[in-house]
Amino acid sequence: MAHLLLIEDDAAIRTTLLRALRERGHAVAAAHTAMAGLQTALAERPDLVVLDLGLPDLDGRELLRMLRAVSTTPVIVATARDDEPEIVRVLDAGADDYIVKPFTAAQLDARIRAVLRRGPGAGAEPAALTVGGLRIDAGARTATLDGAGLDLTPREFDLLHHLATRAGQVVSKRELLTEVWQVPYGGADKTVDVHLSWLRRKLGETAQQPRYLHTVRGVGVRLSGPA
Ligand code: CA
Repeated sequence: MAHLLLIEDDAAIRTTLLRALRERGHAVAAAHTAMAGLQTALAERPDLVVLDLGLPDLDGRELLRMLRAVSTTPVIVATARDDEPEIVRVLDAGADDYIVKPFTAAQLDARIRAVLRRGPGAGAEPAALTVGGLRIDAGARTATLDGAGLDLTPREFDLLHHLATRAGQVVSKRELLTEVWQVPYGGADKTVDVHLSWLRRKLGETAQQPRYLHTVRGVGVRLSGPA
């Protein structure tokens, strides 16, 4: 049994799936718009979200990005669009699996069980990373410096988290754009510079006197603890 959230605007599909998934022993909440779905996801912290891509108020892919910015809850995307580029895009945007409409509840239930079985990595709390006095908790999406909470935007958090997973190594701006921004490198590395300078300010340091964020000119940036 899992605690599921179904975000689907089609009343007939929603009712059918709700009944079928409940009959299979799941606790299921439902939302019929993207914004209601996001609120329910944050309030109820379901084990897994089933997300319809075609929603009236917001494209499902946008909602997926918003969900991914604040939670690691596994998401299965239900899509009527069975074209491969679309499927690749939703998987790249952070979906754990997808299912093409029309599908049966039995098929969806099998996908749900498979995603939940993957265990750690799919929705489980990842371990916190520490670099010197920095502690980055990817599960809770919080970071502290010498015990004090850092007030980071989702992007700043992702940037800091990625650098922490590669602590001690120089990470190129190209890698940051691909891994954190998920855009191909196109000379837009000013974006990285700007976010690095904001992050630096929040860590209470400057490029001239770095403690954690060390710029390696022409190569990239390295996160390492103070010597
Ligand atoms: Ca729909």
